[in-house]
Amino acid sequence: MTIDFSALPSGLVKDLQAARPVFWANPQRSEDPALQTVVDGRSISLADVRAAQARFDRFALLLAQLFPELKESAGHIESALLPAPAMQRSLGLPSSAGALWIKADHGLPVAGSIKARGGIHEVLEFAESLALEHGLVTLDGDYTALAGPAARALFGQYQVAVGSTGNLGLSIGVMASALGFRAAVHMSADAKAWKKARLRARGVEVVEHTGDYASAVAAGRREADADPHSYFVDDERSLSLMLGYSAAALHLQRQFNAAGVRVDAAHPLFVYLPCGVGGAPAGIAFGLRQLYGPHVHALFAEPVQSPCFLAEMLSHGASVYDFGLTNRTEADGLAVPQASELAAEAMRALLGGVYTVADDTLFVDLYRLREAEGLQIEPSAAAGFSGPGMLTGTDAGRTYLKQHGLDRTMARATHLVWTTGGLFVPQEEYARFAERGAALATSGR
Ligand SMILES: *Cc1c(COP(=O)(O)O)cnc(C)c1O
Repeated sequence: MTIDFSALPSGLVKDLQAARPVFWANPQRSEDPALQTVVDGRSISLADVRAAQARFDRFALLLAQLFPELKESAGHIESALLPAPAMQRSLGLPSSAGALWIKADHGLPVAGSIKARGGIHEVLEFAESLALEHGLVTLDGDYTALAGPAARALFGQYQVAVGSTGNLGLSIGVMASALGFRAAVHMSADAKAWKKARLRARGVEVVEHTGDYASAVAAGRREADADPHSYFVDDERSLSLMLGYSAAALHLQRQFNAAGVRVDAAHPLFVYLPCGVGGAPAGIAFGLRQLYGPHVHALFAEPVQSPCFLAEMLSHGASVYDFGLTNRTEADGLAVPQASELAAEAMRALLGGVYTVADDTLFVDLYRLREAEGLQIEPSAAAGFSGPGMLTGTDAGRTYLKQHGLDRTMARATHLVWTTGGLFVPQEEYARFAERGAALATSGR
């Protein structure tokens, strides 16, 4: 498509096109505490967030049975909330600017990434609808019955398919095959070899496509549409995915309460969310907004070559290619050329802003995190860490703080960086990431 560049801030567009890091504040962000969010003509609210959580709860006993790693959490797929004072020092963020915390989704069991939330939720919702329809369970019944022969026979008649850069395929493929579905994951040819191998080891069919993520999705969708027993998880337009992610807000609120972290007018919350197609960060931002109103400021982080969400917010329907960018990045979870329209619609009045990150910075921050906090993440998951610096250290970021009257409350602010993946990255591969970051860090980048 052609973009009317004259309607956009010229400095921002210049930096964006040159793949320099930018901070963009959303001029349409609403402060309304009763803000209504409408997607696809449907109004969504806290009740939908709670419904997604209730679905996870109904399946918990079954999941504890299917996945030994969920025994300890009684079938709940959740991650830690961690204070990160050493990383805060490493980033040079002064305590006068608030406190740094990490939401450690890089350690989420079963899927090893944030996709455990949305992807698994959608598979569970599909399985539940089939089981209810066939009278195998009732909503208040015992879902461990779904491990029995009748349910396995039913699920075995269906295929669950998805297009994925890797992590979504991992979460959906693993859960679908554990429940007894046939599972097919359509991947772009450049998806990481270990992700394909891990899926194949679980009996998931991996279909490789030349071309980028969007074309893998399109091919998967076409194939599934032709088969009435195939259910396609559509990352670009799925509300179930988004609501699965949104349930994270409820657990986080309990963790904040337990840790004594407050979120209110005097204690703003900044959440830094790595963004690919936008479903995960939008779901979480939506969930948090339902709990904390305008006191939560959601900031999406994207690679300088793949800022699809920013492209969409600047010009509806635009892709990163329309800005002359390549969509080439080592952050494979974020290598998406075009944002989800559903996520963009949900975020129009809710999003604080978007900033972009150079790949080198991802590796440096990945390395720093290991040195400072002993945490191992993948490159995509490092995108949040440059957020506090972009917010407090750029003109556009400081303008955002001033406009929202936040410059006076920063000492009491919480900066929550969402680390979105890493658990299953093979050690040799992680070692290469960290070495690359170490070399860049010591060369005084
Ligand atoms: C998928 C993914 C994201 C972003 O999720 P989207 O829904 O694509 O925006 C972030 N980090 C990692 C590691 C991911 O796999």
